[in-house]
Amino acid sequence: MYSIRVWYIDGLRELVELNREVFNAAFKFYFDDSYKVSFREFGGLDKYADSSGRVNAKKLILDPPIDEGDKDSIDIFLVDKDIYLPGFSYVFAVTHPPLSRIVISLFRLLRKYSLVEFEEESVVKERLFKEIMHELGHLTGLEHCDNKLCVMSFSKNLKELDAKVPYPCEKCIEKLEKISKYRL
Ligand SMILES: [Zn+2]
Ligand SMILES: [Zn+2]
Repeated sequence: MYSIRVWYIDGLRELVELNREVFNAAFKFYFDDSYKVSFREFGGLDKYADSSGRVNAKKLILDPPIDEGDKDSIDIFLVDKDIYLPGFSYVFAVTHPPLSRIVISLFRLLRKYSLVEFEEESVVKERLFKEIMHELGHLTGLEHCDNKLCVMSFSKNLKELDAKVPYPCEKCIEKLEKISKYRL
């Protein structure tokens, strides 16, 4: 039984409430009924931000402000700031499989391509689902896929993210099935 903890900052409480079924649909895909999920608030994000407010995803994922949980814990952090990694000015999300941790930024997912206006709820839902599906794919051992339609392809911008379908392609599904019964 996997214990999934979804950690959100205060400003994302409503979004999390609105998207519970989005999370559960992705969890079900990978874990069937072998998971339980809890949604929890966390704070102290400033510690991981640079002077422009962007969050250093590597720092956050390696040293998050939470207790450890048990050995089957999967921790997913949702932040509303842009996140970055060494060598990338921004990324949508990051996964650290050995630590079973995922960080997802809602900053761009919530916005139109211009980043000025906010996007419709249905678009945000779909993007969030794709991001969770993609990162859980990494967590289970999948790598990036060359098929640009596959949810496991790397998206360098919102346009590429929107162009993907929300599920892994046939090849990735085959790999997943080889990895293990419960795909983790
Ligand atoms: Zn990826
Ligand atoms: Zn694929």
